[in-house]
Amino acid sequence: MKNNSATYFIPASVEEALTTARANGKSFAYIAGGTDLMVHRQQENNDAECLIDLSAIPGFGKITIEEGRLVIGAGATLEALANSETVRNHYPILATAALSIASPVIRKNATVGGNLLVENRCTFFDQSAYWREAIGLCLKCGGDYCIATGGKKACYSVFISDLVPALICLGAAVHFAGEAGAQVMPLEELYTGAGLKSVSLPPGALITRVEVPAGGEVRTWFRKLRPRKSLDFTNLTLALSFAPGTGHLKVAISGADMGPVVFETDDLSNSEGFIKTVAKRCRMVENLFYPRAYRKQMVGVFLRQGLEEVGAV
Ligand SMILES: Cc1cc2nc3c(=O)[nH]c(=O)nc-3n(C[C@H](O)[C@H](O)[C@H](O)COP(=O)(O)OP(=O)(O)OC[C@H]3O[C@@H](n4cnc5c(N)ncnc54)[C@H](O)[C@@H]3O)c2cc1C
Repeated sequence: MKNNSATYFIPASVEEALTTARANGKSFAYIAGGTDLMVHRQQENNDAECLIDLSAIPGFGKITIEEGRLVIGAGATLEALANSETVRNHYPILATAALSIASPVIRKNATVGGNLLVENRCTFFDQSAYWREAIGLCLKCGGDYCIATGGKKACYSVFISDLVPALICLGAAVHFAGEAGAQVMPLEELYTGAGLKSVSLPPGALITRVEVPAGGEVRTWFRKLRPRKSLDFTNLTLALSFAPGTGHLKVAISGADMGPVVFETDDLSNSEGFIKTVAKRCRMVENLFYPRAYRKQMVGVFLRQGLEEVGAV
């Protein structure tokens, strides 16, 4: 087993965190709740020599309403998000999504920022170093081909955040700070759609908050496919929002591709055609618990059910 020790910093501001990152440019990782990062360190998939703990940054975990928008600090825990009265009353899909993640103990530490950047998963990657070396390293951990597909070009590790589809279908934007100052982008643009490096955040950048606009009347729907109702990672998560006034529909899916799969439409006159297009776009391979064919079929099942329940068809 490798020596996995690290120098641990606890900065008191975003600026100090960025400066510390810059000073350790070659080998550092931000750590929030640590519920994803520490597993990867144990599995020897992360050997950063410096860990920068974000938990002491004042206000980092706040959830507030500002000028009608929901503002979620990157350090807000999933427990706080699920328990927030504002979230439960006005954005219930976010509370449902947060409650679907991991277990009560993990949700006490796991943060929203960490969930946005949770590492993609694959049967052949999420294993101990010993297991991975025995089977032959895959593309994502230094090998030269993808064990799931046999291909040499692409890693098919799966984007698995459960919160991200719910946030995307509400039109969320992610705010981050870095070398270029403060920046903001629609949440779906944070993801590259590639398995090897699934996030497009500039090196050293720090997510500070997520903002959800005040939408008019929207109906939302969320479902997660997994073997057990607690602890299991998703095999397919589908969230959708539908505005009955305008007929606008937004669908966001995780557990189905290397990044979130997102579709928007104002025309559901051919809903079965729309469902087929969405399912076709999900590039699933055999690398999670449930077989690919079943997961693919469930995209249609979930989407059809969701469209019916929000009254979109
Ligand atoms: C048993 C178990 C079950 C789980 N089940 C689920 C599940 O069902 N669904 C799900 O979505 N996840 C699940 N997870 C994964 C994880 O717990 C969550 O995604 C969690 O929200 C990660 O947040 P964290 O604060 O612990 O992130 P950390 O582990 O601290 O960090 C994760 C990554 O984000 C980076 N990071 C964290 N915060 C910031 C920031 N503000 N700016 C820049 N980079 C940052 C870190 O450097 C790291 O790369 C599970 C984990 C475990 C151990």
